[in-house]
Amino acid sequence: MSHPLLLAALLLAGTPKLSMLPAGDVRPRGWIWKQMDTDLREGLAGNYPKVSSIVDVELFVRKNGTLAPPYEYPRGKVARSWWVGEVEGNWLDSVVRLAFLTDNAEYKERVRRAYENVVKAQQNEPDSYIGIYVPKDRFALRTQTEFNNGELWTQSRLFQGMLAYYEYTKDAKILEAVKKAVDCTLKNYVGKEVFYQGSGVGHGVAFTDTLEWLFRLTGDRKYAEAMRWLYEDFSGKENEKPPKATLELSYDELRYPDRLWWSHTPHVMEGLHTPVITLAMTGDAKYKPAADNLMMKYDRHDTPGGGVVGDEGIGKRLGTSMLPREYCTMVSAIMALNRIAVWTGDFDATRRSETIALNAAQGARFHPALKAVRYLSHDNQKDASTPAHAQRYLYSAWHGAAPCCSTTAARMMPYYVEGMWFADHQKNELIANYYGPNTVTTTVAGREVSITEETDFPFSDKVKFVFGSDAKLTLILRKPPRCGAVKVAAPGAKVDVAADRISIRGVWKKGGAVSVAFDFKPQLVSEPNLTNAYHYSWGPLLFSLPLGEKRKTLTEFETLDGKPSGFFMWEITPEHSERWNYKFDPKEKFAKVDLPGGNRDTPWANPPIGLRGRMRDANGALMDVTLTPLGASVLRRTSFPDCTQPVVGPQEEWIIKARKANPDGTIQQSGARKKMQPPAK
Ligand SMILES: [Zn+2]
Repeated sequence: MSHPLLLAALLLAGTPKLSMLPAGDVRPRGWIWKQMDTDLREGLAGNYPKVSSIVDVELFVRKNGTLAPPYEYPRGKVARSWWVGEVEGNWLDSVVRLAFLTDNAEYKERVRRAYENVVKAQQNEPDSYIGIYVPKDRFALRTQTEFNNGELWTQSRLFQGMLAYYEYTKDAKILEAVKKAVDCTLKNYVGKEVFYQGSGVGHGVAFTDTLEWLFRLTGDRKYAEAMRWLYEDFSGKENEKPPKATLELSYDELRYPDRLWWSHTPHVMEGLHTPVITLAMTGDAKYKPAADNLMMKYDRHDTPGGGVVGDEGIGKRLGTSMLPREYCTMVSAIMALNRIAVWTGDFDATRRSETIALNAAQGARFHPALKAVRYLSHDNQKDASTPAHAQRYLYSAWHGAAPCCSTTAARMMPYYVEGMWFADHQKNELIANYYGPNTVTTTVAGREVSITEETDFPFSDKVKFVFGSDAKLTLILRKPPRCGAVKVAAPGAKVDVAADRISIRGVWKKGGAVSVAFDFKPQLVSEPNLTNAYHYSWGPLLFSLPLGEKRKTLTEFETLDGKPSGFFMWEITPEHSERWNYKFDPKEKFAKVDLPGGNRDTPWANPPIGLRGRMRDANGALMDVTLTPLGASVLRRTSFPDCTQPVVGPQEEWIIKARKANPDGTIQQSGARKKMQPPAK
């Protein structure tokens, strides 16, 4: 142990820099509560079993899943494969979070039954296995199954909800059940070769979520060692054919800053945090270059409204307002970025997830209830009427392509809530990370504290923190994007404003308050990856010109017993398609206005604020326009060309231009190294 490198590794190894608060310590209020409650009771979250049986197979109880191909899920009949386990686990994760965060007794009972049945079924297993497979198909290895093994992936999806349930209820038998099941998995897998490029086994990188959560709960080093095995096995050796897993996330590939990402966006987002967490948990410097390059690479492919490009694959495309991103990948990104912030202490990482949650993800679903989701959505969204690409471009309760987006969309805001507050117990700090109406009741450095955040954020730039308990701590406020001259009213407290944060150190009595005004102003933002493309923003919100909408139902899904479900597949075309060709005039100024009909409880359905000004139509005439938050319109134009600059070809060609940004797949050639070719599908 006296070897200096070992010693250094031990010193670096360890615990997260910040503490994630236990699920349930942050309670949403205002519009966030309302959105969750509506999604659960009226939306897809609570009603998916009406639309498809895929969430109700009880695969983790019956354990009759097999390694047979997963690609079948007609609505009434599903293959017993990893895909079904994924959907069931994720769907329960959405229901458990929404049920407890909105205090819905009916759905709390439903998830209690679901998880207790899983625990009961575990008691019949001599090795405490929890998973989906029949005995002969459990714990398949790379050599046996290639890619069609969803063991780690499906377990991790179920455990994500079970661990949340444990934190909400403090029911120790649930935590014990997960720990025993994970022991069984590690006994069968650690030290062996499991990963293979793509499909179910590649998704298994998300077992990171299980290992890091159990490590946070127990501090047991066995989870750190398991994390090392997971990332080592996942990171196939360079030039190994076929590579073991999603190659761009392997630590060897991530060392090369010039290489773009190309493969399946869901796989990449599900493992986004793995390099950072492996480095932090093991302290092994070999993972450092990978962890260091991660966010730089993410940012290249990120779109202005949030979310990494993807219409299944990233395809080496730089993110633009004209390119699609997939709903479920945005949810995975929020989860991953919360964890990156906690493990590194760099809470600025979450400005990316804040952008997703307050823009792109709101703009890819119906409001006020989550009754339809657009699988692939854009900042600039001209219509949503083509059933091409297996209906991925339609707002629908169900897509022929896959159930990943419609069954996981309701998890988006619960993970935003998860990241609203972090704690630093060593420094006695409570960190406001994402803003919005909520109450946090937690323990910081051993002392209980309760704060209610009174705000309509992001529709207001004013936030008041009212103490529900006596407190002596430092309140850290992450600076949201595009703040002006921040004003803080905190009598008696010491206030420091830095580049990324505001620190307020003080002693408060119950009922005391801190008021903050962020001074947002309408701003014109240039897109990094498109020539002559700009959008208007106000704080974290992007604004769009709504194109209006004509909605037509294509299909009403029948419930499984043959009744109308009230859930549809929609065809939506623009009412004002001419607005697509508007340009902005740099001489025109936009002002923030309160909108008639605005409702701060249902702000995405009834936006309370807008930006008012004038734009030029296709003939150059000045037109009065009101831009609304991106998430408040279904069809919209978000980025516009400057009317004083040349437009390079028809604006639709932007898509092609972005696709061709780096046809050879590099930003710049890295010395004499050969370019890595993407693996064959
Ligand atoms: Zn998806």
